[in-house]
Amino acid sequence: MKNLNNIADIKPLLEATVKPKVIITTHHKPDADALGSSLGLYTYFLKKGIQAQVVSPTDYGDFLKWMPNEHTVINFEEFEEKSLDLVADADFIFCLDFNALKRINKLGEFVKHSPAQKVLIDHHLEPEGFEDYRLWTTHASSTAELIFWFIELMNDVDLIDEEIASCLYAGIVTDTASFKHPSTTATTHRIAAMLLEKGAKSNKIYEAIYDNYSENRTRFIGFCLSQKLQILKEFNTALIVVTEDELKKFHIITGDSEGLVNYGLSISGIKFSVLIVDRKVARKMSFRSKDDFPANEFARKYFNGGGHFNAAGGESMDAIEHVETKFKEALITYKDYLTN
Ligand code: 5GP
Ligand code: MN
Repeated sequence: MKNLNNIADIKPLLEATVKPKVIITTHHKPDADALGSSLGLYTYFLKKGIQAQVVSPTDYGDFLKWMPNEHTVINFEEFEEKSLDLVADADFIFCLDFNALKRINKLGEFVKHSPAQKVLIDHHLEPEGFEDYRLWTTHASSTAELIFWFIELMNDVDLIDEEIASCLYAGIVTDTASFKHPSTTATTHRIAAMLLEKGAKSNKIYEAIYDNYSENRTRFIGFCLSQKLQILKEFNTALIVVTEDELKKFHIITGDSEGLVNYGLSISGIKFSVLIVDRKVARKMSFRSKDDFPANEFARKYFNGGGHFNAAGGESMDAIEHVETKFKEALITYKDYLTN
């Protein structure tokens, strides 16, 4: 593995570059950690007098649009040419909350070939190593937590204001499922406390993210739980398969299926919860597990995916019925893990 956590070297380089042009990008369909860490870093650079631009590979859910400076984000799919010009012209490209260039879709090829210095800030297992500089550990609750570390390393904690703090707090709250996941450490709580002192309003942020769903989305969740949930008792597994027609019927938009996979795991005895959604381009899968079941290994082995040990994802180009069958067959190979 090259360039293991050589992030400290970026400080003198950033400071030595006259008017550095910075691009910040993150994984496709960004969640609150991806967008919160990107906008937290963007706003920090803004305060520091560094010109930066967040380029998202795709759109994202409306529940993130309250974030400070969200209106400045460019969606690559919408403004491809402009995004590519910016990438080609950048001195530094900060890659947040992803470990492999395929996670930023078509943008990945352009980032790969850009002459800019690439900086990875991430907490996913096994980064593929496309970057020049790295701040990486799986022991951080979230990329937002790592952005705090980065700002600390730059000796700029004093620059953190309410806007930066709110973005970072949102990333920490969501990636830890409100300080619930085992990745939550004493350091996570200390950083969160500091962000509150800097002005982040925890109740407002929580409300903006979790109490902001459409009526359609709430009815869709109800429908999935009452009509679509399969309990595969033999494997202590919960499965929800959503078809394209169902997405249409409930007018489901980006971000609406977020969190649905967690319901399965809340059932006593269930160790593995899976959501398969029939998206236009591919069948998208979400995996969540408890204890020692390696959701990321399962995703990698069967569905061209990966992620964290207990929260992973994957995808398939096969028809949804085939994906469901393949999933059930794959479960058999993991029966021992799931029943012990
Ligand atoms: P979600 O189920 O929320 O879409 O994704 C959960 C986690 O799984 C993400 O944080 C990410 O680490 C990982 N993940 C999701 N989809 C993919 C994928 O297609 N490939 C890889 N390698 N990881 C994924
Ligand atoms: Mn994250």
